Amino acid sequence: MIYLDNAATTPMAPQVLEAMLPYFQENFGNPGGIYSLATAGKKAVNHARQVIAESLNAERGEIYFTSGGTEADNWALVAAVQAYGEKGRHIITSSVEHHAVLHTCRYLEKQGYEVTYVDVDKDGVIDLEKLCKAIRPDTVLISVMFANNEVGTLQPIKEIGQIAKERDILFHTDAVQAYGHVPIDVKEYHIDMLSASGHKLKGPKGVGFLYAGKNVKLRSFIHGGAQERGRRAGTENVPAIVGLGAAVQLAMEEMEQRKLREGELSAYLIKRMEEEIPDCHLNGHRTKRLSNNVNISFDCVESESLLILLDQKGICASGGSACTSGATDPSHVLLAMGACPERARGALRMTLSADNTLEELDEVVTQLKVMVQRLREISPHYVQKASKKYK
Ligand SMILES: *Cc1c(COP(=O)(O)O)cnc(C)c1O
Repeated sequence: MIYLDNAATTPMAPQVLEAMLPYFQENFGNPGGIYSLATAGKKAVNHARQVIAESLNAERGEIYFTSGGTEADNWALVAAVQAYGEKGRHIITSSVEHHAVLHTCRYLEKQGYEVTYVDVDKDGVIDLEKLCKAIRPDTVLISVMFANNEVGTLQPIKEIGQIAKERDILFHTDAVQAYGHVPIDVKEYHIDMLSASGHKLKGPKGVGFLYAGKNVKLRSFIHGGAQERGRRAGTENVPAIVGLGAAVQLAMEEMEQRKLREGELSAYLIKRMEEEIPDCHLNGHRTKRLSNNVNISFDCVESESLLILLDQKGICASGGSACTSGATDPSHVLLAMGACPERARGALRMTLSADNTLEELDEVVTQLKVMVQRLREISPHYVQKASKKYK
């Protein structure tokens, strides 16, 4: 099997599993208890909180564990706008957000909030001028993702943070794809709230966190017990939180090496495809992108057919995002970038990890060349330009 879908989820690192195991059985105590069995869990949760806080240049009391990136996004948007209701009911976001943000915005619109979806350019970068123009006196929140999950484009987060700070507007970023892959300093970037998820960085599924700066009026999202300083009730998922902490520690230690290796691998894959397969187009920004993201469209080829053929060869990739696969709707991200529906439907996303090898990528290119050519032969629309040939 060749796994190229690390933006959808990652396998857990062996060290992460090892760190988690004692908390399923020996140290199973409820962290809320006062006996030593319970304090072991409590200590482990606090250690994970400390590791995560340090990774962002934040404080331990600013990290709230959640059931994942989706919950953190929902919390940041819903609870924050409620807490700032007297200032206004207007939110600004981008048109290329993950559905965890976009669908929460749609929900808020039904509750009477107004949302402005700021456009991006052809590379998927948010238009800062339009963002500034969208700001109104009643704007309470700007939410822009750190890196896009489909095309990997990195947003100008520092600039957006500055804009929000100058105008005294809360700034939230969905950093699920970026966290653990690029350095993030919440103070330097003026980030008020940030969402992250365990399973996108070799941690377990079903756990993540929301960072909320101590000046943010953060309302409770899940009501009940006093966990997470009364803001997010429910017995802590201790093993998962321990795993998340271990994954973050590992990601921080290995970030530079991983980035270099992934960069080499993705550059190799892009170069070979662009040289050897005619009429293909890289989606997203060529340089301002996550080092492991390769998103490419092949003229007159639907990614769905390609994905089925790739799967038959044991190659895991995806169309747009994991959450929209299965649906034949073209990607909202590529459409927002101005791609025609055909190109949006033809996008193949391959997200690598530092564990992939050049041999694996050679195999992928070999297979893709054959598959793309075969699919084009049966396409009524494909006319190969004389200047471009399969090499
Ligand atoms: C995966 C993802 C999410 C959702 O995170 P979960 O932990 O799976 O709920 C949110 N935003 C982005 C950008 C993602 O890639």
